[in-house]
Amino acid sequence: MDLSYSTEAEAYRETVSSFLEANWPLKGKEKELSFDEQCTIFRDRATEAGFLYRSIPKQYGGSEQETDALSAQVIREEFGKKWAPMEARGIGTMMLAPTLLERGEQWMKDRWVQKTLFGEIKWCQGYSEPGSGSDLASLKTRGELVGDEWVINGQKIWTTGAHEADFMFILVRTEPDASKHAGISYLLLDMNQPGIEVRPLKTMTGTVDFNEVFFNDARTPKDWIVGKRGEGWAVSRTTLKHERNSIGATEQTNAQFSRLKKLAQETIIDGKPAIEREDIRERLSILEGHILAHKFSGFRQLTKDASGEDPGIIRLMTKLYSTEIGHLVSKLAMDLIGDDGLLGAGDARMGAIPSGNSAWIGQYMYSLGIAIAGGSANIQRNVIAERGLGLPRDAAADRSKSN
Ligand SMILES: Cc1cc2nc3c(=O)[nH]c(=O)nc-3n(C[C@H](O)[C@H](O)[C@H](O)COP(=O)(O)OP(=O)(O)OC[C@H]3O[C@@H](n4cnc5c(N)ncnc54)[C@H](O)[C@@H]3O)c2cc1C
Repeated sequence: MDLSYSTEAEAYRETVSSFLEANWPLKGKEKELSFDEQCTIFRDRATEAGFLYRSIPKQYGGSEQETDALSAQVIREEFGKKWAPMEARGIGTMMLAPTLLERGEQWMKDRWVQKTLFGEIKWCQGYSEPGSGSDLASLKTRGELVGDEWVINGQKIWTTGAHEADFMFILVRTEPDASKHAGISYLLLDMNQPGIEVRPLKTMTGTVDFNEVFFNDARTPKDWIVGKRGEGWAVSRTTLKHERNSIGATEQTNAQFSRLKKLAQETIIDGKPAIEREDIRERLSILEGHILAHKFSGFRQLTKDASGEDPGIIRLMTKLYSTEIGHLVSKLAMDLIGDDGLLGAGDARMGAIPSGNSAWIGQYMYSLGIAIAGGSANIQRNVIAERGLGLPRDAAADRSKSN
């Protein structure tokens, strides 16, 4: 096995690294701007230089580069070393914009892609319902075509960011007599209308991330449909692929583990640094083993991507592995901080790097949720076992119910 990068990739690394040397962190007066403003300035420059929004056509504000998995990996590594901002992350940028580029009508791309990527409009994802999560295809929210509009009635739940979103992409049942997967359509919907009621749900982190959303004759134009009527399930698989791709970067896991080792060095238990205790060293070593396995699995995915092959089941492993490791890392951190774990939670956003005890609490709580989002860990395990390893089907699970 040869894990070294090609000469061309190493030369490209030099190019990326010199760009970062000159551009991040920002210099002079720009350093006094807010962090968000600095990120925007930097992203514009990095896009101009061809390092960000690489798969996005120039007409939508991207840098439109040739598909090249190795260059993309080099960029992630070099940006990661410098803590430089990558593309803005949000439901719209990570899921809807790529889905529209792959499956949307031209007018939809023109109207929404650029504004979504650059944060001018926000989206939420209306999939899950009470009783329809893993068993998503059983969803009951109805969409009926009345004249030139879809009229929507029903309820969604766990809708991240619905309280701040301008639009929703939603799965609704439009063909009640068809079989369950065949009766679903993928609609786009304006959130600012009287037929929609958003009720925020406060989570244990103390913040509002999720919502219940109720539809009472909500309306959307007939042509705000992605894919054909009744073919929404296939479109939703496209979005899911992008959702899972956004969870699981190995760079993020490595960065969290480095912080954990620092915490173990700085935490004093019984008069000596925790990292010198046998039980802690054992847990750290086991974790490092998982992290290396995740890293090499990431290389397998990269090799497939670089040669234009579909990584298939490896993609699912990446998501599962990273969420499991994230949980184990933050669980050990919680054990190290002891009673401080009773304090309030800090920043629990995806990719936030923990520093300070309250941030670890936030990460721990977040690790419980992210293992469920985008398809729960148990479902992933079943799919990997059956499709990847060829194991017999799980006798206990009703196969009509997994997404
Ligand atoms: C952080 C977070 C963000 C989310 N954001 C959104 C969002 O923006 N929009 C949205 O629509 N939804 C969102 N969700 C909801 C998410 O998609 C669902 O929670 C998820 O699909 C699981 O569904 P459920 O909660 O109904 O659990 P259930 O499906 O009831 O599962 C409960 C348990 O049973 C197991 N199980 C169920 N069926 C099987 C089976 N066939 N085989 C083996 N095990 C099984 C599951 O693994 C799980 O452990 C979010 C969830 C989280 C945690």
